[in-house]
Amino acid sequence: MNKSLIESQFWLSTSLENMNNEQWEAICDGCGKCCLNSFIDSDSEDDFEPTDSLREGEELIYTNIVCQYLDTQSCYCTEYEKRTQFVPSCVQLTKENVKDIFFMPQSCSYRRLYEGRGLASWHPLLNNGSKQAMHKADISVVGKVVKDNEVDLEDFEDYISHWPQHDCD
Ligand code: SF4
Ligand code: SF4
Repeated sequence: MNKSLIESQFWLSTSLENMNNEQWEAICDGCGKCCLNSFIDSDSEDDFEPTDSLREGEELIYTNIVCQYLDTQSCYCTEYEKRTQFVPSCVQLTKENVKDIFFMPQSCSYRRLYEGRGLASWHPLLNNGSKQAMHKADISVVGKVVKDNEVDLEDFEDYISHWPQHDCD
């Protein structure tokens, strides 16, 4: 990670919408949680419509099933350039769709900034670019997931997990 970027502490003075590309990319902590399979559990499944917020009776449920293209040790996408081709549902968070941030886990650093909670002490930007503090704080997917090409997705209910909602600091 660019040292001068870290030293500038741009996240304290620049809003998400005013960040340049390099700054925007650096906000991603690389936890890998956005590559988990999740779904909306609704009281009225028949009435599902696209939404930019959770409605009454709806809950975002996470599983520990992760996309097969995630390197589960480094938490980097192994097909980053072709990801939307291979996984049409793979959504890249941008300034335009950041309003849909409720789809991201509580610990997602974009969500933390969007909600005014600041970066957590485990964020790589606050640890000389290292992800070790994040792994130690139990934030990333390392050691907790199975890949979606290794399980029967019909059995997704067996994989419902609460740890993706974990955030700290
Ligand atoms: S959840 Fe947010 S911070 Fe974590 S890898 Fe995904 S986009 Fe980056
Ligand atoms: S294609 Fe890459 S970025 Fe998209 S969900 Fe899979 S691992 Fe994550």
